[in-house]
Amino acid sequence: LSDNEKSPQSESGVELPASLIFMEMMRQAAAKAAQTPPPTEESEAVAPVESAESAEATEATEPVEPALVKPPMTEEERQRAAAMEAQRVRRIKRRQEKRRQRRVSVLGGIVRSFLVIIPSALLMATILSWWTDPQFLNPQVRQQLGAAAAAGMLTPTPTMLAPTPNWMQKIGIVSGHNGPGQNGEPFDPGAVCEDLNGNVTVTEREINFNVATRVVTGLRDLGYSVDLLDEFDPRLQNYEADVLVSIHANTCQDFGERVSGFLVAKAEARPEAGVDTLLVECIARYYAESSKLERRFGLTKDMTDYHSFREIHPTTPAAIIELGFLLADQQIMVEQPELLAQGIVDGIRCFLEPDFDAA
Ligand SMILES: [Zn+2]
Repeated sequence: LSDNEKSPQSESGVELPASLIFMEMMRQAAAKAAQTPPPTEESEAVAPVESAESAEATEATEPVEPALVKPPMTEEERQRAAAMEAQRVRRIKRRQEKRRQRRVSVLGGIVRSFLVIIPSALLMATILSWWTDPQFLNPQVRQQLGAAAAAGMLTPTPTMLAPTPNWMQKIGIVSGHNGPGQNGEPFDPGAVCEDLNGNVTVTEREINFNVATRVVTGLRDLGYSVDLLDEFDPRLQNYEADVLVSIHANTCQDFGERVSGFLVAKAEARPEAGVDTLLVECIARYYAESSKLERRFGLTKDMTDYHSFREIHPTTPAAIIELGFLLADQQIMVEQPELLAQGIVDGIRCFLEPDFDAA
């Protein structure tokens, strides 16, 4: 309540309700009006409202005239006073309601301001940080962040790009001339040669088998799933694998000159720019490194139209290797099969493992 709505005190010190004081004032005003000519019936209804408003406006300043006589209130006067009082109470209530609405709208304004200010501040901070010098950070914090970055903690490696585990990769190794002959034909040992002393017989089949079993062991030690296959292995029909390599050795025929070196071939039917070429180049590179033998390029129809190439599944990358010539290269083939096997294992890894580097 404002000051002029507080209940003033009477002379005796007893608090009087504002309405009583107001009624007293009305009585005095009515007495004053009695001295002037009486109002008409029409103006009677309007007059009290006007006088009440002016009375309230002058309430604080207009002194009460003690000289005025106070005639007893008529019934009409009492009713008029009561009506005016009710009107005054309504006005006060309306003012209070307006003040309450103003408070609510102020609170709403503050909340709305925060909803705008906070996102704006975040946006500004983000934009301004583009021009922030990294030196701005505390040196100790910078050092710790540097250590975390160096340890790879800030850039986790995506697991989706991890290579296929070795055990999920299938490799077929054909031990040339091993096993029974085709369609129950007699056993074919491949080339049959004298050893370097002219005493013991050396067969291609034995040389191939010594190298092939070492290749299988080496790949299995790396976790690969490996099949050791015979020359005419029934499993070769529609064989599906990540790699197929057939291991053979060249003839011990005497050409009248020293003929040495190895050969690697893919099927003639496979495209030049395909995966088979990649496999051939991987094996040639690492076999040359490990065996120190020279790579030869005189491919025969036996190699490029090798029977297994026609049997396996079309999507299986395949290659055939001739380890060396059984006359000129016999020593390393007999005495160090592990070196030849290592070259083939590394070549297959070069083909299957994206990051492989034997060195
Ligand atoms: Zn052969």
